[in-house]
Amino acid sequence: MQRFQCYINGEFADGEARFESIDPTTGRAWAEMPEAREADVNRAVEAARIALHDQPWSTLTATQRGKLLYKLADLVAENAGRLAELETRDTGKIIRETSSQIAYVADYYRYYAGIADKIEGSYLPIDKPDMDVWLRREPIGVVAMVVPWNSQLFLSAVKIGPALAAGCTMVVKASEDGPAPLLEFARLVHAAGFPAGVVNIVTGFGPSCGAALSRHPQVDHIAFTGGPETARHIVRNSAENLASTSLELGGKSPFIVFADADLESAANAQIAGIFAATGQSCVAGSRLIVEKSVKDRFLQILKAKAETIRIGSPLEMSTEVGPLATERQSNHVKTLVARSLAAGAKLVTGGTAPEGAGFYYRPTILDCDGSASPSLENEFFGPVLSVLSFETEAEALHLANDSRFGLAAGVFTQNLTRAHRLMKGIRAGIVWVNTYRAVSPVAPFGGFGLSGHGREGGLEAALDYTRSKTVWLRTSDDPIPDPFVMR
Ligand code: NAD
Repeated sequence: MQRFQCYINGEFADGEARFESIDPTTGRAWAEMPEAREADVNRAVEAARIALHDQPWSTLTATQRGKLLYKLADLVAENAGRLAELETRDTGKIIRETSSQIAYVADYYRYYAGIADKIEGSYLPIDKPDMDVWLRREPIGVVAMVVPWNSQLFLSAVKIGPALAAGCTMVVKASEDGPAPLLEFARLVHAAGFPAGVVNIVTGFGPSCGAALSRHPQVDHIAFTGGPETARHIVRNSAENLASTSLELGGKSPFIVFADADLESAANAQIAGIFAATGQSCVAGSRLIVEKSVKDRFLQILKAKAETIRIGSPLEMSTEVGPLATERQSNHVKTLVARSLAAGAKLVTGGTAPEGAGFYYRPTILDCDGSASPSLENEFFGPVLSVLSFETEAEALHLANDSRFGLAAGVFTQNLTRAHRLMKGIRAGIVWVNTYRAVSPVAPFGGFGLSGHGREGGLEAALDYTRSKTVWLRTSDDPIPDPFVMR
């Protein structure tokens, strides 16, 4: 079995305990992971606190920080094959996706390398002739980053990149489900030459490791990606240290198809939107809302495509759908499908697990018209699409917004004015028109409502890792006048 270590204060270290990581294709252990508990977390946060204020990190110029980020980006690109394989091994995410995603992770680090020396303060046109006043942008401080198991290298890059660009130090908690790629990534941070304590990477369980990290008194900001229930724990923990939070949570994203859309193209986008990453994607387009006049035709196209998807070993380049990452996740999907069928949803295709070992589940489509299916409200985080139909644009918009989540939405129509109306009316952080699941380092990403708050990606995210300091400088040599008159 392969063994992995935590990275604390520039050194590779075992945690207080160890646990086994499960290969989702077999359900058997394949690697041993370090389990960081409170004492390890405390060491990591203290290292980050010291590194924040000490030389060399605190005196590096922004351009020098950018150079370190460029080096890290190059190392990620050079090691992309190994990182992709580890992520696939540990989480079951198919190699086709992990390889292309990791190439993009390098681009995110490159983007934030370039941003480092473009985070500018400002000079204020103050209403007093003898004062110069500036806003300085300073790093927000020590950041706790807590990430889920899906796409850990990507979901940590959108936090680590902007936080380093802004001059923060950090403790990253890899998920206990599939931590291998992030623990391996620590070797690249080390090789890039970041000073000890700037980036610390640990793994462990939520209630022990994650809780100790998010309520630690020396943490200034918590960047969290995961489910809404865990987010509530994070926010409660932040009541201890009064740290600010950014929360990237789940979704039940609407995918709206009008009768005038290019149905073949929309179907391909819908297949990618729900079955890519085996449906374990926060932006999964998991609620299809299709115009009634084309519903049957569109479902026929989707069914034919879903039934020819290649299910198999995630390490094979030809595989299109791999296993779910954990047994817990697989049980959740099976239970929610059963509850949805009991509530009146009709099975269009799928609904079963293929025979054999591993946490596999067939691409599934549920027709939910006329039912109160719980699949319309609850995130599967699996390869299951729920379908509703509409007759008017107003009805489509109402159904799209009938969710407490608000992460992403897709709109497929050839009608430009309608696309504009929907883009404004939909309550979601991202709206894709005639495309789906596109991302870029340049474009902010995040949600409304139960999908969280804060944005990742883009310049906005780097500014979120800073706080402003107002500096007043009196330019007059005259003595300060009457001390009891407000200046
Ligand atoms: P999760 O919420 O169970 O776990 C996420 C992380 O939180 C893990 O590292 C876990 O150990 C930690 N954690 C658990 N309990 C904790 C506690 N009490 N205190 C502190 N930390 C704790 O999520 P998951 O099942 O790993 O991932 C799936 C969820 O993540 C889905 O809801 C999905 O939509 C969401 N997600 C969101 C985005 C986004 O960008 N919006 C991206 C990917 C995944």
